[in-house]
Amino acid sequence: MVGIASPCLGDLPADHLADLGGSLALEIANPKMTVVPVPNLLGIEDGMSCSAAPPPSTAPMLESSRRGLLDATVQEIRSWMIEQGHSAYRALQVIPWVMRHRATSFEEMTNIPRDLRLRLEAGWTVLSTRVVVHSKSPDGTDKLLLECRDGRRVECVLMTEARRRTVCISTQVGCGMGCVFCASGLKGVERNLTAGEILEQVIRLRNLLPAGESITHIVVMGMGESLANLDNLIPALDRICSRELGLGLSQRRVTISTVGLPGKIRELAALNRQYHLAVSLHAPTETLRTALVPVNEKLSLGAVLEAADAYFQMTGRQVTYEYVLLRGVNDRLQEAEALANLLQGRKAHVNLIPYNPVPGLPFARPEARAVNRFVAVLRQRGIGATIRKTKGQAIDAACGQLRRRLEPGGSASSVPASTGWMG
Ligand code: SAH
Repeated sequence: MVGIASPCLGDLPADHLADLGGSLALEIANPKMTVVPVPNLLGIEDGMSCSAAPPPSTAPMLESSRRGLLDATVQEIRSWMIEQGHSAYRALQVIPWVMRHRATSFEEMTNIPRDLRLRLEAGWTVLSTRVVVHSKSPDGTDKLLLECRDGRRVECVLMTEARRRTVCISTQVGCGMGCVFCASGLKGVERNLTAGEILEQVIRLRNLLPAGESITHIVVMGMGESLANLDNLIPALDRICSRELGLGLSQRRVTISTVGLPGKIRELAALNRQYHLAVSLHAPTETLRTALVPVNEKLSLGAVLEAADAYFQMTGRQVTYEYVLLRGVNDRLQEAEALANLLQGRKAHVNLIPYNPVPGLPFARPEARAVNRFVAVLRQRGIGATIRKTKGQAIDAACGQLRRRLEPGGSASSVPASTGWMG
């Protein structure tokens, strides 16, 4: 059995602000896992039942020349309508078909004249990624591995719990931050996702929900450094939150997780949105943080905290600090006390994430005792802290992991031992 973990949010927050972050663990050969997926393309292992992805609906030539509808701004679609001799308002008819009525083809858009539908079909694609794998866990977690037009793959997850429908989305193919315990960045970053590719993850996951149900929360905690792709992330989130042309989700129900790029945190604050910010801290000292999050050497913990304070001052939104607990590395009493000292006096919440082990990396999940001690120290010092529950054990809910497993030579054993901290 191969254990898999990822950076994507694995558990369902009991409270949106209080319980964010973390990873999902996947056990590939877990018999409870249902894979609605797509084999042969990928060499999925025995024990997974798979079905092939539908063939592309158009010839490759046409496909590559068509533009992704979700990548266009409303203004661009309006201008296109006018060029085609139609009224600009047709754009405002087309978009809700996808966003609200779950259309995946122009044919379904019955209030659009037939000739316009044909022209749309020739010039645009409604959705531009392809579902390579859809895995489903009995605890209510769905994971999609999507293939972009250039063949690159990204992962996203839907978590269903009580009345919550939370999606965890990716912003980049790979990640350039190099956190030593994380699987997403093992091969560096390949590219930013486009706004349409980010938006499409939410739409595809929403389309899995029964009719009448809708996404209630979004966490940007999948693959990639969210703020390194702010220019595409914000238009995607703004569209999702738009009442007229999106899903009408409140911005307050969206959490953007970042390694803590100070300039970008300030830039985000200045955009005057209500998105919730989660900063991945993982260590209370410069030395330890640099060891775990190498990019800290350039950023510095001090500058990250200053930027987070500025975010709070500028937006009035309390910042969440994520802290992955790694056994014997950053889960001891001394780190708990140092973290309490660091955050003392700040209006902040700590989300403790017991590590989800990544095959080939030399880190382990903390003992329950250490986790409880850590949270107790923070709370005694008046710092709000929650421990993330683990969910999605039966599937590959770990962003970065499924993609990695399905790459040529991407099995756990192919990870060089030297990749990890302490390696
Ligand atoms: N680049 C963003 C998003 C990363 S994923 C960031 O750094 O915040 C979201 C969270 O999952 C981050 O805090 C990340 O450090 C954490 N994470 C990554 N790998 C993990 C693992 N194997 N187990 C638990 N949490 C993990």
